[in-house]
This record gives sequence, structure tokens and C-alpha cells, in this order.
Amino acid sequence: MESKLFLYNTLSRTKERFEPIHPNHVGMYVCGPTVYGDAHLGHSRPAITFDLLFRYLLHLGYKVRYVRNITDVGHLENDADEGEDKIAKKARLEELEPMEVVQYFTDRYHDNIDKLNVKKPSIEPRASGHMIEQISMVKEILDAGFAYENNGSVYFDVEKYNQGNRYGILSGRILEDLLSNTRDLEGQDEKRNSFDFALWKKAQPEHIMRWPSPWSDGFPGWHLECSAMSEKYLGEQFDIHGGGMDLMFPHHESEIAQSTVCNHKTPARYWLHNNMITINGQKMGKSLGNFITLDEFFSGNHPALEKAYSPMTIRFFILMAHYRSPLDFSNEALQAAEKGLARLMKAIETIEKLVPGSSSTSNIPEIEANCHEAMNDDLNSPIVIANLFEGVRIINSVNDKKESITVEDLDRLKTLFRTFIFDILGLLPEQDAGAGNERVEGLMKLILDIRANARATKDWPTSDKIRDELAKVNISVKDTKDGATWCIE
Ligand code: ZN
Repeated sequence: MESKLFLYNTLSRTKERFEPIHPNHVGMYVCGPTVYGDAHLGHSRPAITFDLLFRYLLHLGYKVRYVRNITDVGHLENDADEGEDKIAKKARLEELEPMEVVQYFTDRYHDNIDKLNVKKPSIEPRASGHMIEQISMVKEILDAGFAYENNGSVYFDVEKYNQGNRYGILSGRILEDLLSNTRDLEGQDEKRNSFDFALWKKAQPEHIMRWPSPWSDGFPGWHLECSAMSEKYLGEQFDIHGGGMDLMFPHHESEIAQSTVCNHKTPARYWLHNNMITINGQKMGKSLGNFITLDEFFSGNHPALEKAYSPMTIRFFILMAHYRSPLDFSNEALQAAEKGLARLMKAIETIEKLVPGSSSTSNIPEIEANCHEAMNDDLNSPIVIANLFEGVRIINSVNDKKESITVEDLDRLKTLFRTFIFDILGLLPEQDAGAGNERVEGLMKLILDIRANARATKDWPTSDKIRDELAKVNISVKDTKDGATWCIE
């Protein structure tokens, strides 16, 4: 059957029907983090975006081999070929073995994104564990004549490559512009052209992360690991390559060049890039001093945060925007996400209590079709969520006896909610995610018990104060013959 899924391919700059190379099997590679610090909000977007894709492909019945790497060597400070290795620098400052830094921050990364309910990839390879593959790839590129050695380091010859290929095919950059835009960086005189990139770097005497190679004791260039590891686990050509938009150039562009020289074809057929998260319109970054780690979000322990935000609030906040749209962080936006998520989860409880009638006043099959159509249209999660909220409206109306629903439509709506909220969007009720709801339920029970006692002793001022103060935080209390109930407005 023809696939209904369309994905925006950065390589072709169009939405394309997704057809995997091998029917029913999908190979997907996503660039993972460089583990030298705590994961921040920016890390959560690619993790959640490609988790959404992974979950949706599984939902569609594909067998998926999802490879997401850990960069533990070779990523230098300025993202080009100069500066200190990010991990080696952290190790030096903390007086640790580099692999202690890697282990510590890899574990922290896993803890954080587990809380975000991000499914584990099928394989999570590390760059440092694939030296043999990387060195053999450097040899292959040298033998093909697309690299040169200088003083123990090996560089990719971009100009030579560009004669028969296009360096810039992914990012749309033009080589001539790159030449005029790049300034001479200190120590880059080993390169023939400033846009050439390192395949292998000779280690300076003080550099602690080093491996023997035919050229020098040194370490691989940052772009090489992804070419070597994606080929090892997914083959010379695979289906999907993903990552953040900031990796498109030079990282992914260089991956394409390396793999094309070795295998004479583009490594991946579909290239997907998520947009960035900004804070007040500014890029987030350690150097900009405006990044907030996921731990700080979960604890609320950061001056820019008005309160703590649960992992599911963060996940929902990210899914409320299309992955290719920019997303700006603010406390207001996160609080809106928190409220929206609470309404959605409350509806999941309410739906179980609904009593079906003889007719449906709303078109449930249409909502169902809209959700599938939105996912098939390049993973349009905000449209899915808008349709789910239409479902919430119907659930609440039926519950208030203002609308009715047939037993078939009710079953349909229950399945739709479970499938999309839990399986595809990957949201969890807060108590399962370890924060929020359980505590809120406990607190609300306590507050309503106090109010019930006040009412029993005719202490109306206390009873009214509780009701009014709760209303201020959008919690409404209704008195029924079975006692008081509450809901989030
Ligand atoms: Zn990569």
C-alpha cells in the first residue's frame, strides 16, 4: 500500500511521500548530544521531535532501527576545527578522566530524557568506541583523493569534492560565498582552504584524548563519527537522518560529503531538521548565559523560572509547536501548556465515566481523520492537539448532558485519545511521570476536606474563601449531593 506519510526533506526542500528503502523497515539516524554538560531545554527538542517520528513510524507498523549517537570525542569548542575538545576541557577543569565526564553526563542525559518519556533508541553508539571504523574511513577518503595530510592531520578537500559534487547541497550554501565569508582562524594554515574540515587531528602534547593512527597520535574530526557509525549500523544508504537545524552546516553537509566519497551516494534519503528554541527571541547557549537545564525546569530552581515545570509540561510545550517552527520559551507559554495538558488528562478520566446515548451530536470520525491527516502531513502535532481539544470539548459537553454520543463513537473517541495522547504524542499522566497530579489530587482532597468541615460547622467565610481562592487559580469547586468535586477550568 502506498504510504500516506509525507515528510519535509531538507535535501529536496519539499514535502515528499515517505517510502523506505526496504518495505516495512526503517533505518533512522539522529545526531545525539555532546556529553560535557547538563541537558538543557534545547536538547529536549530534537529528542522529542525524533521520538515523535519514531513512535509514529512504529504506530504505522514499521520495524524501526533507530540509532542516536553520543558524541564523546572530537567536538571542538568552536564547532569547527579549532579550540579545545569540549569533553577534554571539562575533564581538565574538573580534574577527571574524560570518560568519567562522558559517563556522568550520559547518565544525566538519560535521566532527563527518560523523564520526558523519550523512548530509548535501538542503538546508542559512542564516537570513542568506533575508532577503527573512523580511521578506515579516513583512509578510504585519502585513497580516493579527496583528502590530504599535513603535519599529522588529515583534511577533507572541499574544493576537489565540489568539482563533481555539490558541497552545500543540504544547507543551500555556495562554496564561493563560504570562501569570502570565512576569516582566517589561528592555526588553520594547515588547511588549503578555510572551508576544508578535519578528518583526523594530530593531538598536541597536552591533549589527553588520543588514539594511534597512520598519520599521528590524535583524534577524529567531529563530522566523521556520524558517517562511520551510521554506515556501520544502517548501511551505506538508509532512510532518515535527523538532527537540529544548527547541525545542518557544517556537520551534516560534511557527513554527506564524506559518505558520498566512500559510497558514491547520499547516506540518507530523507533529512529532517527541527527548529531551535529561543529565550525571548535569542538563541540559547552556554556562552550566552541564558540557558536553563532540564533539571532546573523540573525543580524551578532558576531565576528566569516563575515555578517548577513537570517533564510532561515541557514535552507538551514542545509538541504544541510544529517541529520546523521556531519556539520561544516564556513562563506564560509553559503555564499555558501546563493548563492544556491538565485539561487533556482530566478528559481522559472523564471519558471513562460518560454514558452513551442513542445518537451523536458531534462528528467523531472526522476528528479521527483529522488527527491522522495532521500526523501524515509532516508530523503536524499542533493540529493533532487542536483536534484532541475539540474532543475534550465534546467529552465535557456530553458529561454535562449538553451533547450526546453513541456507544460506537464513544469507543472510537476512547481509542483515539489513548492512541494519540499516550502512544504517539508520548504523554503520560503526571503521576506516572513522577511529578504533579498525584500530589495535586492529595492537596485538593485535603483542601476540600477542610472546606467540608467548615461547612459542617456553618463557617461560611472559610468555606467561601477556599472556593474563591481556588477560582483565582482556575480551579472550580462544585457542591453535589455526594460532596464537593473540583475541575480545572
Ligand atoms: Zn552527527
